[in-house]
Amino acid sequence: MQPRDLSDHVAYEAGRGIEEVARELGRNPSEFVKLASNENPHGPSPAATEAIRETAASVNGYPKAAHADLTEAIADQWGLVDAQIWLANGGDGAIDYLHRATVEPGEDVLVPDPGFAYYGMSARFHHGGVTEYTISRADGFAQTAETVLEHYDGERIVWLTSPHNPTGSTIALDDIEHVAAETGEDTLVVVDEAYGEFADRDSAVSLLEGRNGFDARDDVAVLRTFSKAYGLAGVRLGYAIVPEAWSEAYTRVNTPFAASELACRAGLAALEDDDHVNRTVETARESRAAMRDHLETHVWESEGNFVLAAVGDASAVAEETQARGVIVRDCSSFGLPGCVRVTCGTEAETERAIETLNAVLVDLD
Ligand code: PMP
Repeated sequence: MQPRDLSDHVAYEAGRGIEEVARELGRNPSEFVKLASNENPHGPSPAATEAIRETAASVNGYPKAAHADLTEAIADQWGLVDAQIWLANGGDGAIDYLHRATVEPGEDVLVPDPGFAYYGMSARFHHGGVTEYTISRADGFAQTAETVLEHYDGERIVWLTSPHNPTGSTIALDDIEHVAAETGEDTLVVVDEAYGEFADRDSAVSLLEGRNGFDARDDVAVLRTFSKAYGLAGVRLGYAIVPEAWSEAYTRVNTPFAASELACRAGLAALEDDDHVNRTVETARESRAAMRDHLETHVWESEGNFVLAAVGDASAVAEETQARGVIVRDCSSFGLPGCVRVTCGTEAETERAIETLNAVLVDLD
C-alpha cells in the first residue's frame, strides 16, 4: 500500500531552528542568532509564560470546546460579535478552515506570487486548484487592485497578504474594497494580516464592519495570528475573522480541539499585555529602519517584522551568513530568487545582522 499520488503537492519548507543548524555544523547553539522565521525577539509575554505554566498540570483534560473567554476578548478588541472569530491551530489552521468552508473540489483560489506557500498547499489539500497573480519586483512589489484583478477569473477565494510575506509591501483598504467589489458574489477576499500589528495601515476589519467610511461587506475575511507580535509561534494560535453570516459554518469545519488549552490560555494572557506588543512593534520598526539605512544592498520598504534584501546568489549568501552565526531566510522557496529575508531582531541582533550581511556581500562579490 502506498500513499495516493501526491506529486501535485509540495512540501512546506520550514525554517530550521538554531539547535538543528548548530548540530549540523557541529557548533555551539549559543554562537547563533536566528532571524529567519519572523519570530518575536523578545519572546512571549511573561504573562503568557505564566499562563502556560499554570495550565500545564491540567493538560490531561481536553481543551474547553468553545474557548469563550478568548473568543470574547478578541471580538471585543475588534468590536465584533464572538461568532465571527474562528480560532484555529495557528494562522495556518485558519487558512485550512477558510478553504474547507468555501472551496468545492475542482474550484480555484487566487494566490500571490511571490507569496506564502501554505495558501496553495492548503487549497490543494481541499481538492481545489491554484491560480496566481504577480506581485512584481519591477514595480517594487506594489500591491494594487489592478495587480490582482488582472488575473482574477472567478476564483472562490482571493488571497491578499498585507503586510506581504516576504516583501513587506501592503495593499490599501480602498484597493481591497475595489477587489471585493469587482470580484463576483461567490468570491471571498481574505486579507492575511499575520503581520498586521507591525503595519502603519488600518486593519481590513474596517471593511467587514463598515467602519472608517466603508460600507459593511459580507465577502471579506481577515486572518490574524498570535505567532508574530504576540510571540506565541510555538503554541500555534491564530484566527479568521469572518462575516457574520458565516458564523455557523465554523462548527462544521472546525477540527475537534484544534486550538489547544495551552495556546488559548497563553493567547488570552498575551492579549492583555499591551506593553509587550507595543515594545515588540517598536523594536521591529527600529530594526527595519536600521536595516534599510545600513545594509549595503537594496532593501525594500517593509511594514512587517522583517525586510527583504537583494543579495544576488541568495543560497550562497544565506549559507555563508549562517556559517558566521546569523541565520536568515533564502527566499527561493517563496518564488523569489536572489533575495534573503531578515527578521527584525533586538538592537544588538540587528547590528550583528547588518555587519555580518555586509561583510558576506563584500566577501562573496
Ligand atoms: N500568513 C503568513 C503571511 C505567514 O507568513 C504565516 C507564517 N509564516 C502565516 C500566515 C501562518 O502563521 P501561523 O500559522 O504561525 O499563525
